[in-house]
Amino acid sequence: MTELRTLLIRYDEIGLKGRNRKFFENCLYNNIKQVLSGLDDVRFRIPRGRIMVDTPSSLADECARRLAFVPGIASFSIGYPVNPDFEEMAALGIKLVEPSLRAEGELKFCVRTQRTDKNFHKTSPEINFEVGSRIMTALSERGLVVNIKQAEVVIEIEIGRGETVLFDHRTPGIRGLPVGCSGNVLSLLSGGIDSPVASFYMMRRGCRVHFIFFDNQPFLGRGGLDKVLKLSRILNRYQSRGRVYVVPFQDIQVAIRDHCTPENRVVLYRRMMYRIGQKMAQKIKCLALVTGESLGQVASQTLENLAAVSCVVPMSVFRPLIGMDKQEIIAQARKIETYETSIEPAPDCCSVFMPSRPATKSRVDRLERDETRFQWEDLMQEAMDNTEVIDLDSAKEG
Ligand code: ATP
Ligand code: MG
Repeated sequence: MTELRTLLIRYDEIGLKGRNRKFFENCLYNNIKQVLSGLDDVRFRIPRGRIMVDTPSSLADECARRLAFVPGIASFSIGYPVNPDFEEMAALGIKLVEPSLRAEGELKFCVRTQRTDKNFHKTSPEINFEVGSRIMTALSERGLVVNIKQAEVVIEIEIGRGETVLFDHRTPGIRGLPVGCSGNVLSLLSGGIDSPVASFYMMRRGCRVHFIFFDNQPFLGRGGLDKVLKLSRILNRYQSRGRVYVVPFQDIQVAIRDHCTPENRVVLYRRMMYRIGQKMAQKIKCLALVTGESLGQVASQTLENLAAVSCVVPMSVFRPLIGMDKQEIIAQARKIETYETSIEPAPDCCSVFMPSRPATKSRVDRLERDETRFQWEDLMQEAMDNTEVIDLDSAKEG
């Protein structure tokens, strides 16, 4: 088989965007170039409605591995460039079908052609027949049968102007929109299962996601931060150029613990996180906050409590998991490979800072009254001033 491969990259959703199409396409194209950078001899083309990448066969699997992380890709295939010659296409088809043949019993297959070069001298059904019948001649005695509706192996042929590509497999992509086309958001990332999944969903809608973590060292040691950095590196594989903002939060938590009503603490912590998050978002030009909250999952996530935290910020707060149950969230966390890290044991602030009976129906007037009992504006400014910024692209694997 030839030493070259052509990766065919499909992107249905962004293909529908009318006049913006070029913008989305460019965004995806640049993201793909970025993930494949560093690989030698990889060449890019954009014929209509496709992105094609020519690569030496030795790099094809590595390219495919990287493309699996790019939002905006509907599916992709590793194709074999061939001459538009039926004998040659059939010979390659035979090689691709052969390994799937069974020692006993039938194997259902078909050929499907897409012809964008309308000057080609045969129509798509004619090409299917020409190539399919040649493959059948060679393999029908070994159990190969044609079955268009229930094919187990599909040999696909794309004939464009100047190139013909044959392939036998479509790998599903992440779908969604290319990162960067929607703008930036700031995600409140804790070491739990939920917020990494919420962050991923925003990336899949075209957002570049930066992360903010409220750290309460020295009470809990470095464990919490290490976990968040590890999670944000896993998440950054679906985009690039993400940053983590580490906000020292211990003084604020101590002040709330020492001065405020115990049952209000959890919501008060959250109100402070939202306020700092919003200020930071403004500073770094993020247009919304993102959290991993899901309705009713824990005491702090009732409708009343969610409203009592949202109301402190004049900014969109997105909660992509709001209607999901824990099992669905866990399944998604496994898919995006954050789950194993999220469940690693880490120090939990519950024992130190959590009240035994948190309020499930906070009242904003009571929260505000609690907030008059400490100098939160000064503490907030201090936390902002001492925030550490970590650039995920340049940070070493940890
Ligand atoms: P997660 O699994 O994401 O930790 P959770 O179910 O444990 O969520 P909470 O601990 O109530 O829920 O937190 C709700 C949301 O608040 C989190 O999903 C996250 O977005 C944000 N959050 C909580 N603690 C922190 C923190 N220390 N730093 C940054 N964000 C946080
Ligand atoms: Mg949590």
